[in-house]
Amino acid sequence: MTHPSKIVVWFRRDLRLSDNPALAQAVAEKAEIVPLFIFDPYLLNHPETGIGRVQFLLGCLDSLQKNLEHLGSKLIRHYGNQPQVLVEVATKVGADAVYWNEDSEREWRTKTDVCAIEALREAGIKVRCFQSEAVSPAGGKEVYDLKFFTPQWYRFLQEPVSLRPTHLSPVQFSTNTSPLKSLEDLGLPMTTQTVPVAGEREAHRLLNEFLDCKVPRYLKSLSVATQASQNTSRLGAHIKFGTISVRTIYQQVLLKRRTATAWEQRNLDGFISRLFWRDHFAQKLRNLPRCETESYLEAFDSVPWSQNDQHYRAWCEGKTGYPLVDAAMRCLNATGWLPFRLRALCATFLCIDLFLPWQWGAKHYMQQLIDGDVAIDHWQWQSHAGVSNRGRTWFRVYNPVKSIEKIDPKGAFIRQWVPELANVPEEALRLSGSASLEYCCPIVEHQEARRRALAVLEPIKHQHQYQQL
Ligand SMILES: Cc1cc2nc3c(=O)[nH]c(=O)nc-3n(C[C@H](O)[C@H](O)[C@H](O)COP(=O)(O)OP(=O)(O)OC[C@H]3O[C@@H](n4cnc5c(N)ncnc54)[C@H](O)[C@@H]3O)c2cc1C
Repeated sequence: MTHPSKIVVWFRRDLRLSDNPALAQAVAEKAEIVPLFIFDPYLLNHPETGIGRVQFLLGCLDSLQKNLEHLGSKLIRHYGNQPQVLVEVATKVGADAVYWNEDSEREWRTKTDVCAIEALREAGIKVRCFQSEAVSPAGGKEVYDLKFFTPQWYRFLQEPVSLRPTHLSPVQFSTNTSPLKSLEDLGLPMTTQTVPVAGEREAHRLLNEFLDCKVPRYLKSLSVATQASQNTSRLGAHIKFGTISVRTIYQQVLLKRRTATAWEQRNLDGFISRLFWRDHFAQKLRNLPRCETESYLEAFDSVPWSQNDQHYRAWCEGKTGYPLVDAAMRCLNATGWLPFRLRALCATFLCIDLFLPWQWGAKHYMQQLIDGDVAIDHWQWQSHAGVSNRGRTWFRVYNPVKSIEKIDPKGAFIRQWVPELANVPEEALRLSGSASLEYCCPIVEHQEARRRALAVLEPIKHQHQYQQL
């Protein structure tokens, strides 16, 4: 078989040189490589796009560019309809093939890939797609069924990582268009969030920091507002944009596990299980693309959810009158990050206490989270709204007042993010929500709102359980 002599390697959510199967294959074929990234207006203008996340993406691209330059190559950035741009660039550079790694974050992505393959083949250009994460092409239910998915996940993650290239050929290509290096170049407003350092080197630094320093405190600090940010890996945004592969992380964790204490092993296993759920959500969304916008259990989409825009705005802005919810929402808006337990608390507050559709909450999270990832975000939202659950804890409703005791026992997180409460003593904070604090009157009464919501939702759950018998 003759190998292509010039290959466009199309980077998407795999912004790394290490363990990048498409790039490694092009290198193995000794081809001249043209690295390309395309900003698509559909994604940039999508209602769920977060400006802070785009800023992080730009940082990942700068880092990729530097790493490519270090090897003698360069990254070409383009803007436009992806199938069209691919054909244009491949034709202009005289490439005989385009290689890329699979990505299925949105149904749009899968459909666009089909169009890209068609357009390139029509132009006589060969296409090869590679699997860079443990997510298989969509098939029947058995693809995401845990009996099938679990062994496949472990098998994939144990395969050797793809080699990092040590040298690449120079790229002769120039564009007269915008450099596409800033939010302004992309026609987007500035971000007010503090965006973390991006890029491959930083992803490996975070992983090492996690393995060397954070492991013993990982599980215990997951639910404590003031500890989680220092003791979880903070790799979410890196995994989302692929500056490090889950396979690399998994293999490093296994290495660490060999010499770890029993306690550390427990924490490492807890960490691996979260990576597993991440990939499982991605697989499920790939198989059930309608769940990007609809509930897994369709009956819940017919519920007369509230459409109270004032409540929604109060939740988004952190003005619900519940200090922990408000602190969390303000922290999310300012930093683009929240620990799991607070994401969950604010999600149930929106869906149960305010009885608003999960899609509204998921959209705001996606607009704010630097690690916003449709598959995790939307499945987590559905699970916390109870519209996808079939387990024993179908409706997990967190009490926004009692949770302070567990999540922020000294009130430090609340005081940091709700300055109106800076001088309120701990005990008073724990009583808040009962209108004892005057910074903002609670917009709903928790117990009453919970009772009303469950009166509507429980019968649908029972009906569903009955149909399953
Ligand atoms: C309503 C809601 C929405 C969420 N939206 C997102 C999202 O858009 N993107 C996102 O990455 N995570 C999301 N999560 C999951 C979780 O809160 C974050 O992954 C985690 O807090 C990120 O911090 P970290 O990178 O330090 O994670 P760590 O705890 O160090 O975990 C490592 C990685 O494992 C994955 N992971 C961790 N926890 C979970 C989980 N519960 N489910 C699935 N995967 C997990 C993530 O990729 C994470 O980066 C959401 C959770 C909830 C309740």
